[in-house]
Amino acid sequence: MSLSVAVVGSGPGGLYAVEALTKNLPDCRIDIIDRLPSPYGLVRFGVAPDHQTTKNVSRVFDKQMVKDNVRYLGNVELGRDISYDELKDMYDAVVLAFGTPIGRRLGLPGEDAEGVYNSDAIVAWYSGHPDFENLNPDLTGKAAIIIGIGNVALDVARLFARTEAELADTDTTDFALDAIKNAHFDDIYIVGRRGPIEGTFTRAELGELGELERGVALVHEEQLPEEVEAEMDPRDLREKVANLKVLRSYIGNDPNANPVKVHFEFYASPKEFLTETRDGKEHVVGVRVERTKVENGRAVGTGEEFDIAADVVVPSVGYQAEPSTGAPLDEWGSTVENTDGRVEPGVYAVGWAKRGPTGTIALNRKDSHGVVNLLLEDITADPAKSGSAGVDRLLADRGVRVVSYYQWQKIDQAEVVAANPPAPRKKFTSIEAMLDALDR
Ligand SMILES: Cc1cc2nc3c(=O)[nH]c(=O)nc-3n(C[C@H](O)[C@H](O)[C@H](O)COP(=O)(O)OP(=O)(O)OC[C@H]3O[C@@H](n4cnc5c(N)ncnc54)[C@H](O)[C@@H]3O)c2cc1C
Repeated sequence: MSLSVAVVGSGPGGLYAVEALTKNLPDCRIDIIDRLPSPYGLVRFGVAPDHQTTKNVSRVFDKQMVKDNVRYLGNVELGRDISYDELKDMYDAVVLAFGTPIGRRLGLPGEDAEGVYNSDAIVAWYSGHPDFENLNPDLTGKAAIIIGIGNVALDVARLFARTEAELADTDTTDFALDAIKNAHFDDIYIVGRRGPIEGTFTRAELGELGELERGVALVHEEQLPEEVEAEMDPRDLREKVANLKVLRSYIGNDPNANPVKVHFEFYASPKEFLTETRDGKEHVVGVRVERTKVENGRAVGTGEEFDIAADVVVPSVGYQAEPSTGAPLDEWGSTVENTDGRVEPGVYAVGWAKRGPTGTIALNRKDSHGVVNLLLEDITADPAKSGSAGVDRLLADRGVRVVSYYQWQKIDQAEVVAANPPAPRKKFTSIEAMLDALDR
């Protein structure tokens, strides 16, 4: 009797769990369920389009998908097409790998004004995620503010400053390419409550802002210490020193060297979104911030406030779990409630659903493998579980159109064929368009 496992989510967390399961238990049967026809999670819809090399990790994941005992059930959503309890009833084990797809809000006045787009939406829009096909952000203004000092914030700032030529060999969606082509920002501000040492960005992403064709990176010299003085483990220290070195290399940059000034504004805590009424709607016109200092790693307000004018504001302050799956979440709704990946008997969490929205693709590997080890310690096959046969019956009864891995490959090929070289692919940006490609 072989073990039946449902893995919900085909991003790195889920697919590294599949890797560990198939390696340790070659006769287990795995169904990977994803709400979209396309697999790979944030590798497709998060990793920036101008980072195509990073996206190549999907080829590693493909090796899991083609295994005889693994099935891909795309276009099947937990909480919509099948419930959490049904999955638990049907499989010996369920691995929750559905990530943390919702952009965190700052909870400040004016956040719902026109012109404010959370980074979850902006990133998904330029990456072609079907949920954000109609976002249509207005990027025609003179200034943009990105709130946050992590790599996602840097990705958005960089994409906003790119030229059409710089994006030619990427899979940025056509509508985003058009909007970016027609964007003429004079100023893009990257605003953080804390300082350069506390920023969660990395050297490579910081460095790219210094190499933009039409952008120039600008820093306030007084915000950049000459050395990293905080105590931390040696690896973190090396990273912080490297970050600081890149930031300090921007000291003295000529603001007029290029048309788009990309400003780092550290120690500035957003207090409210400034708005004005136009055509009966509230539009953002800037952000009021309070100058801070960092004490014991925390931002403390100084009482000094100032305003930064902007036509577009993109809060980029993290992600949290989607509540509609039916899975138990922690008290803040941030992640799946779990202890080292154990959720409840027979249910496990991996990836960002387990740990929250931090860490690279590679980091998920060790983590998912660790959780699978626990699963293998805990679980034995139960002949009463209906597994794949049960889920097939249930989805057929509900009229769900399941997309297999073979069908995904057809969609993938259609995207590659439709590409305008040197772009690697032209993404379908709706589920209907993907399914139409299968019917052709
Ligand atoms: C904007 C951005 C850029 C990034 N860039 C990089 C980078 O350049 N390099 C790097 O190493 N890391 C990068 N990361 C981090 C990396 O993407 C994550 O570490 C990784 O994707 C987390 O994997 P995951 O499987 O937990 O979640 P995800 O990748 O989010 O996968 C979750 C999957 O679950 C599916 N799903 C969600 N809800 C349901 C449901 N109800 N039912 C069924 N399926 C569902 C989703 O469709 C998705 O396929 C980036 C992250 C972001 C947000």
